[in-house]
Amino acid sequence: MKVCYSCGSKIKVIKDQPYKFNECGLNVVLYGITQYECPNCKETYAAIPNVSKLHRIIGTHICKERKALLTPEEVKFLRKDLLLKAKELALIIGVTASTISRWENGKKDIGEVHDRLLRSIYMMYATEQSHRIICEGVINLFRELPAKRKKIKQEKEISLNPQEWMNENFTYCVA
Ligand SMILES: [Zn+2]
Repeated sequence: MKVCYSCGSKIKVIKDQPYKFNECGLNVVLYGITQYECPNCKETYAAIPNVSKLHRIIGTHICKERKALLTPEEVKFLRKDLLLKAKELALIIGVTASTISRWENGKKDIGEVHDRLLRSIYMMYATEQSHRIICEGVINLFRELPAKRKKIKQEKEISLNPQEWMNENFTYCVA
């Protein structure tokens, strides 16, 4: 990529700048992404490896590393990456569609049991999609979730270093 899509000027490459991947609806920061900026119109671009795989890595990271109860944004992210409508997830989990909406708009906490159920479903899905075991030590994953999870303070930001997610053969595409 050498010229700006918007104005046709030559663009410059920016390396080693964290990239805010807000497109996914979460506060995700990616390191090791090549970015481009147009000196003329200030348009910016990022070369993001295979976005659907990246989504899977973010989802897995949420399920494995985020110890507090799933936030509304995280619930929504996981549901969307499962390619399920609220109504469909409701049937799978055994709640009503309006319960799902309340989890996603923050009017109601997902609660301990449904948090663990959604994580389990997602991890099974990610394993199935990648044809490899995504989570080793699944019992420990749940064992290590603390009991009083509403009180847990965790970073708002999810940051992914290149080694965490670029070690696979991604097909590069421009987002
Ligand atoms: Zn431009």
